[in-house]
Amino acid sequence: MLQCKQITIKTSKVKTNFDMKTIILVSIGFILFFLSCSHTNPESVAADEEFYSLGHHGDPEDSTWNKLTKEEEYVIVHKGTERPWTGKYVDNKKDGVYTCKRCDQALFNADSKFDSGTGWPSFDDFIGSSVSIVEDADGFREEIICSNCGGHLGHVFYNEGFTRKNTRHCVNSISLSFEPKK
Ligand SMILES: [Zn+2]
Repeated sequence: MLQCKQITIKTSKVKTNFDMKTIILVSIGFILFFLSCSHTNPESVAADEEFYSLGHHGDPEDSTWNKLTKEEEYVIVHKGTERPWTGKYVDNKKDGVYTCKRCDQALFNADSKFDSGTGWPSFDDFIGSSVSIVEDADGFREEIICSNCGGHLGHVFYNEGFTRKNTRHCVNSISLSFEPKK
């Protein structure tokens, strides 16, 4: 009887250890996730502003490109992410063409835009070869950049079932300009 009891205790101890391990692993996962999203943190924005004030301006710029504000540079050059629902094109339903804020290359037609409910403009396709897909620095997402100037646009996600093309190009509004159809 006593032996049985000991076995029961041991078993429950093993189970407890496993649960703790799971909790620790999940916690580490969350920490890594928040670190990867740290660009959305206002404190991080403040740190970047300090970075700029020290005279660092990232990639060398082509003189023909549009001059960027600090906020635009933070996303387009330094691959930051604007906060969801804050971009000017999230709910834009007008017909026209979205172009690169930095080099004016046409990137997305309005007819490829759809409501994803994520808080960022979402497109299921891009124009021609205007967008390049590269591995994100985080090692698991796919980053999308302007194929002409290399400006950061956002990320691409697949198999979410939003549209027939099953692809969501999740783009920062601040990386874009919009030319309404005339
Ligand atoms: Zn560009």
